Amino acid sequence: MSQPFSIAIHGGAGTILRENMSEDLKQSILADLEKSVQAGHHILANGGTAVDAVVAAVKVMEDSPNFNAGHGAVLTHKEMVEMDASVMDGSNSNAGAIAGVRHIKNPVELARDVMLHSDHVFLMGEGAEEFAFQHDYAFTEQDYFFTDRRYEQLLAMKKQGHVALSEAKYPDDRKHGTVGAVALDQHGNLAAATSTGGITNKKFGRIGDSPIIGAGTVAENNNVAVSCTGMGEFFIRKMVAGDVAARMKYLKEDVATACETIIQGDLKTIGGEGGLIAIDAQGKIHFAMNSSGMYRAAIDCDGQLSVKIYSDE
Ligand code: ASP
Repeated sequence: MSQPFSIAIHGGAGTILRENMSEDLKQSILADLEKSVQAGHHILANGGTAVDAVVAAVKVMEDSPNFNAGHGAVLTHKEMVEMDASVMDGSNSNAGAIAGVRHIKNPVELARDVMLHSDHVFLMGEGAEEFAFQHDYAFTEQDYFFTDRRYEQLLAMKKQGHVALSEAKYPDDRKHGTVGAVALDQHGNLAAATSTGGITNKKFGRIGDSPIIGAGTVAENNNVAVSCTGMGEFFIRKMVAGDVAARMKYLKEDVATACETIIQGDLKTIGGEGGLIAIDAQGKIHFAMNSSGMYRAAIDCDGQLSVKIYSDE
């Protein structure tokens, strides 16, 4: 009998309300989520690694304008994109991350390549891009990332002088559309990946939790893999991904208890909205959120597919 394997993905948590969601957009998002989780699952089913699976799943969402990563990344105060991503391999505690890249089509691949082909874990800005071009990445013009929808969101935010969206022009205006994936492969290895454009109207080189190992992303074999989404400042302060891993490892909590304790407890106490996806060493998947929704999908160890949006589903 083959070893269990499973995968879960998210396309961001936040204020997502049924009354603001058009049927067309909903169908488009659900289709992307399914395509993403299937891409990762296909790799796992063929005996591929958890790292390859999470990168492939995240890449599908980076290529869609529906999520705040890659193509659909939100705009900074200076009207450009600055993207962050990270990957962690639970089999050897190897990790790669990049922050503030502007011309890389798939930041998650660059994070993986920092992990595999550099002596470092975390590269930023121009240096990260220099590394990318030395590894034959194409230079992607900012135009590729510039969508009308993100521009309108930025203008609304600038008018209000905020960095967190508060005007419901689009159904997911108050959603943090970061993307992420966690997987257990047939070899018993866990991996996690997260990719984001950060938050609309960000300034001063602001970086959130997504590229920070232990805050937005973590993977540890025989324990858990986690990818987070939400207002990064709170996730950094509560070391959310790392805390899930620590609770499971030292307190022997199960995956659901560890995730809920943090998302509904510690994180909420300091005002942090968002959620996470987690997968344990047996392939058990848990989704946790304290927001009204989180775009998410999974294929569990029995091959059961689920694709969901709202917290009450
Ligand atoms: N966590 C991301 C950040 O703060 C945002 C998100 O989840 O959408 O950069």
